[in-house]
Amino acid sequence: MTVLVINAGSSSLKFQLFDMDTHEVKAKGLCERIGIDGRYKYTAAGRDAIVNDYEMKSHSDAIRLLIDLLTDKETGVIASLEEIDAVGHRVLSAGEKISESVIVDQRVKDIIRECIPIGPLHNPANLMGIEACEEVMPGVPQVAVFDTAFHQTMPPEAYLYAIPYEYYEKYMVRRYGFHGTSHRYVSGEALKILGNPNAKVVTCHLGNGSSIAAVDAGKCVDTSMGLTPLEGLPMGTRSGSIDPAIVSFIAENEGLTATEVVNILNKKSGVLGVTGVSSDFRDIDAAVEAGNERAKIALKMFNRSIEKYIGGYACIMGGLDAIVFTAGIGENNSVMRREICDDIAFLGVKIDPEKNAHPGKDCVVSAADSKVKVLVIPTNEELVIAMDTAALVAKN
Ligand code: AMP
Repeated sequence: MTVLVINAGSSSLKFQLFDMDTHEVKAKGLCERIGIDGRYKYTAAGRDAIVNDYEMKSHSDAIRLLIDLLTDKETGVIASLEEIDAVGHRVLSAGEKISESVIVDQRVKDIIRECIPIGPLHNPANLMGIEACEEVMPGVPQVAVFDTAFHQTMPPEAYLYAIPYEYYEKYMVRRYGFHGTSHRYVSGEALKILGNPNAKVVTCHLGNGSSIAAVDAGKCVDTSMGLTPLEGLPMGTRSGSIDPAIVSFIAENEGLTATEVVNILNKKSGVLGVTGVSSDFRDIDAAVEAGNERAKIALKMFNRSIEKYIGGYACIMGGLDAIVFTAGIGENNSVMRREICDDIAFLGVKIDPEKNAHPGKDCVVSAADSKVKVLVIPTNEELVIAMDTAALVAKN
């Protein structure tokens, strides 16, 4: 089976074409500046990337372009559109209405539309991606894989905020969580590695955006992101959790609206805000090497926040069998993993310095006598979307 995975943004569209027999990516690409002027990057497996300007007025134009590229005699990897068996879409939010991946039909599109208030940037774009595929490749089954779905098993005491209940009833204000596809995938892999379907696992998705989840026997029981991805850990440019009164305090003192302050909390805060150097943790590491004091503090803030979540989640689960590190930082930054694990050694976490420096295929980086296993599991959200899509289409 061949599955096309689409991640549509408001003016961009990323895609990967998977051969589901081998799980290999046959080709991938990115269409940018849709509706502005248009540019694309396209890479067929084993060949050089092609980068070109190309006018795209709409997401439908982008889908037409990617199909041309995938089927072209020179750039292509498939003979015709008919070879694409299904399309899987990354969709931000289905609110409380959908808790697993689903075949797209009118009801699903209506739910994505109804949830625009809680995913104002992403849901409309995700819907545009779906409708563009319907237009350009009619009859090809489409599947929606939601970023929030995995977290729908959280109990009310985890997802409610302690604010007037009417805001939950009127506006669906509650914790939804994000990166669900990643947390689901790596926690599932962790249970297989541990050989224990009932294990208590904390999954740390640490990338440009970062979130942590508490997963008890395969079910998410809490997560750090909230109504929006702003809550939780300090991130590349996001503040993470702060005293909410800071919003009106800064707004009044700087003559800004609440929306403008929240924009600053999303785009100019996090390690970028604290250091003034960069949102990229490799740049922060380089700044620490060069003796930048604020960069040192920013990294300590990041580690401390992660440790607070791990400790808190171990408490609410009543134990901890494994910690999983994933995403750009979690998979690659062995120094950070070691520092965090050393700080929480009292929980029974003991890292193996050698394994941690070079994680192997078994993913285990803790010492043999560590009470809590530490795992480094590469995430692959696109592959999970492709696998969900293939499984649903095969069933129907
Ligand atoms: P992601 O959003 O998952 O792509 O992760 C991006 C973050 O991962 C950035 O802050 C990068 O600095 C960090 N990152 C990516 N690769 C590495 C690496 N090899 N070593 C350290 N950090 C990395």
